[in-house]
Amino acid sequence: MTANTPSDAATTPTFEQLGLKPALVEALSALGYEEPTPIQRASLPPLLAGKDLLGLAATGTGKTAAFALPLLQRLTPGEHKAFSTSALVLVPTRELAMQVAEAIHRYGQKLGITVLPLYGGQPIGQQLRVLKRGVDVVVATPGRALDHLKRQSLLLDDVQTVVLDEADEMLDMGFAEDLESILEATPETHQTALFSATLPPRIASIAERHLHQPVNVRIAKEKVAPGTGPRVRQTAYIVPRPFKAATLGRVLDVEAPTAAIIFCRTRTEVDELTVSLNGRGWRAQALHGGMDQSQRDRVLKQFKTHAIELLVATDVAARGLDIEKLSHVVNYDVPNAPEAYVHRIGRTGRAGREGVAITLAEPREHRLLRNIEKLTGQKIEVATVPTVADLRARRLELVRASLREVLVAGELDSYRTVVESLASEFDLMEVAAAAVKLLHDAQVEGQDEEDEEIPLVAPHSSSERAPRPGKDARAAARPGARERPAAKGWPGTKAPPGEEPRGVKRRAGPTEDFEMARLYIGVGRQAGIRPSDLVGAITGEAGVEGRRIGAIQISDGFSLVEVPEAMADQIVTALKQATLRGKKVPVRRDKG
Ligand code: AMP
Repeated sequence: MTANTPSDAATTPTFEQLGLKPALVEALSALGYEEPTPIQRASLPPLLAGKDLLGLAATGTGKTAAFALPLLQRLTPGEHKAFSTSALVLVPTRELAMQVAEAIHRYGQKLGITVLPLYGGQPIGQQLRVLKRGVDVVVATPGRALDHLKRQSLLLDDVQTVVLDEADEMLDMGFAEDLESILEATPETHQTALFSATLPPRIASIAERHLHQPVNVRIAKEKVAPGTGPRVRQTAYIVPRPFKAATLGRVLDVEAPTAAIIFCRTRTEVDELTVSLNGRGWRAQALHGGMDQSQRDRVLKQFKTHAIELLVATDVAARGLDIEKLSHVVNYDVPNAPEAYVHRIGRTGRAGREGVAITLAEPREHRLLRNIEKLTGQKIEVATVPTVADLRARRLELVRASLREVLVAGELDSYRTVVESLASEFDLMEVAAAAVKLLHDAQVEGQDEEDEEIPLVAPHSSSERAPRPGKDARAAARPGARERPAAKGWPGTKAPPGEEPRGVKRRAGPTEDFEMARLYIGVGRQAGIRPSDLVGAITGEAGVEGRRIGAIQISDGFSLVEVPEAMADQIVTALKQATLRGKKVPVRRDKG
């Protein structure tokens, strides 16, 4: 089965038409979802009909709702015994466990369902208390799910639906055997859905053994004929979600678009971003399906007459609009299907003019960028977020251009007396510099949020298939894997015998070399920390792939983890804000 492409506007079914019940449709509408994404269109009908499914979809395609909505529709809340669950969703990281559990909670709130995320690093007693009552949906990392199965604090006898989410990532993190053991513990008859961004042989083999006559869902790829793609400069910025608005602000300040559409996924996001951009001094207006026709017409008129520079819109609202002369198209989120990207950026760079397409992607969404490159045959350049220094340089450039215009226009006589009177006291160059400063300060007034630190995320390799993790990372990521013992007195003194010093080159995968840095994390074996907790925290909180993580050492009171040097500061910042085993812990670069 294949899904519709976004250009099938006229035939796009609604969530209701796909068979969802009103309580779920209402929940989606409240979240600002305007229509199903392609993976949702293709997956909802077979999953609602109780079929098994193999879905090829990466993060960012809307796959969570694709499996969560049918799962919620099919279960009867509260119909479970103590320690039992009706649905089990397995995910690779604790961050994803929390995200998926939260999404399921939001979608199913009106149905009164109970959902519990289970991951390492959380006190087990707390999990046991909730499990004892039984829960409708458990979202778990494989290691923790297996722990509970062994303790018999999680029973799968009555499970109706099992979802394997990001199955390829779970295998990459060394969870293959755990997955097998968990699937073995499920009853003969239940529905299974497996989602994976790629289909390596090991996934195909799991699918073959555990899925019964599955419906295969992948998004149809209409190849764009060579040379027919739009002439557009395509740039992407990889940035963690909390920093997206600030990043966009900076990028817009540097790019200085004259007329741009900024695409967002939901109505809510459109509204929030519009407020934020106006606060930054841009003239921006929202356009989405929640507005009535006269509101929309008014906004469009403002845009066409250049009364506003930025139109912040959902795909649905922007569909069919006849807007010419766009200087920029911005994807505030990576579109949920590559075809939607092509469709969006086709709005700039028309009639022989080169346009600019800017995309903000979260670290986990890099796969979507590759899919787009494959479809268009064109490169998307991953750029670093403009720094505060870049912005200052750009502003000075604008000040220079303004001054030049005034100089060319002339008619400065009435100001000369001021310069002459100051010239007797100061050097002429100084006088001019002071005037430039005044103009510059007036232009940047109220824009101080630019000094916010935006973490630098190293672009991911553009190779087709993510290389398998280094042996260390994979072995270390396995729950229960044995760590190398840490030497006494380490860290803070010197590296233990046989250990490489910080900054050494280490292969993180078959095709990549990274400078590695070592991080000190102030929690260790005594607190029950396992390698999978650390990998989970780093991948989840900092959006770094598990395969980027090097050697892990866990000693009684602390742990040491090797990470790519370029990402070290970002990881430290992210982990400082996170909790491990329910507690904030000290994290810093290891000085050993
Ligand atoms: P996922 O691929 O499941 O990680 O979803 C990526 C993002 O898309 C999440 O922020 C979802 O809330 C959002 N999303 C999922 N389905 C839709 C939809 N139909 N319309 C708008 N946003 C959606």
